[in-house]
Amino acid sequence: MRLAPRVAVSALTTVAIGCTAAPALAVSGAPGGTQAPSSPAAGGVEYGLPVRATQLHPVITALDVPSSAIAGTPPKVTLRLDERGVGTVYLDVVVTNVATRRAALVARMGWSHTGRTLTVRWPAGASLAVGSYQLSVTAHDHVGSSLLRRAHSSGRAALTVRAAPKPVAAPTPVPTPSPTPPTALEAGVPTPAQTLADGAAFPVAGPHSFGNSENRFGAPRGSHTHQGQDVLTAEGTPDLAPMAGTIESTSYQAGGAGYYIVEHTTVGFDFFFAHCQLGTFAVAAAQKVAVGQLLCHAGQTGDATAPHLHFEMWVGGWQTSTGHPIDPLPYLEAWEGAGA
Ligand SMILES: [Zn+2]
Repeated sequence: MRLAPRVAVSALTTVAIGCTAAPALAVSGAPGGTQAPSSPAAGGVEYGLPVRATQLHPVITALDVPSSAIAGTPPKVTLRLDERGVGTVYLDVVVTNVATRRAALVARMGWSHTGRTLTVRWPAGASLAVGSYQLSVTAHDHVGSSLLRRAHSSGRAALTVRAAPKPVAAPTPVPTPSPTPPTALEAGVPTPAQTLADGAAFPVAGPHSFGNSENRFGAPRGSHTHQGQDVLTAEGTPDLAPMAGTIESTSYQAGGAGYYIVEHTTVGFDFFFAHCQLGTFAVAAAQKVAVGQLLCHAGQTGDATAPHLHFEMWVGGWQTSTGHPIDPLPYLEAWEGAGA
């Protein structure tokens, strides 16, 4: 008969220790591993029959906080509180800056329903700057029992706020040897229609064709891509200056362009004419040329298997670090119908 009360007292003592131990552990931030043994005791406090009403506590049964968010409007946070036999608990959510240990945001939720998912209502215009934060839920019931923090429902969560990604910078006109899409036109240089209106001429004075896909700008050529458009024509057909300009150079490249001519214009284009017939240069470096002026005759010198004009158009300077080739075909097609 004396044993029974002692067992009861002993049990209560255990309960009491468990009750104080749980919050203490949570406050110290001890890992769940240490706290696990006290869980049954804590459960006894919550749901055990012999305990008084004052020993019931609100418990977090769900807390959904993104681990990181973008600076600005605070992220969406949802949570759920439960307390047996209790319909509402008083709820606050505090976001503390880890570095300053000061509250950065406080959402006073007031008396809130238990047993349902609640979305935290941040104050109007609330904003979070870049930094590390701890979100903490505090709650108490009508008799002042505060939130019971447990290993897996501490009511706290870390939140990292990062800077918004920088807006994508406007495309920079980086020179690139890669093909420009056929329809892309360079800002600041004349369009095919404009060059035609200014009197541009087709650079091959005779029957011709643009060949097939391998003759196009951007066609793969082993370790590089084809930087011009081929205009296939008969050996000896005159190659003409399509626009007025100055001859930059005339030269010879055995394994590639053969006899070639570079023309510079004042409207942003440089032209490159390759595979001229041997001995047909009609112009020299530094010479000014007019629209339609003879440059050379089409041939197949250098690396060519059939007579043609290999024609390149560059913006920003031929073969310079700031220049790049563009697709000449839209220009050639515009000029093809005119005169010649
Ligand atoms: Zn070519």
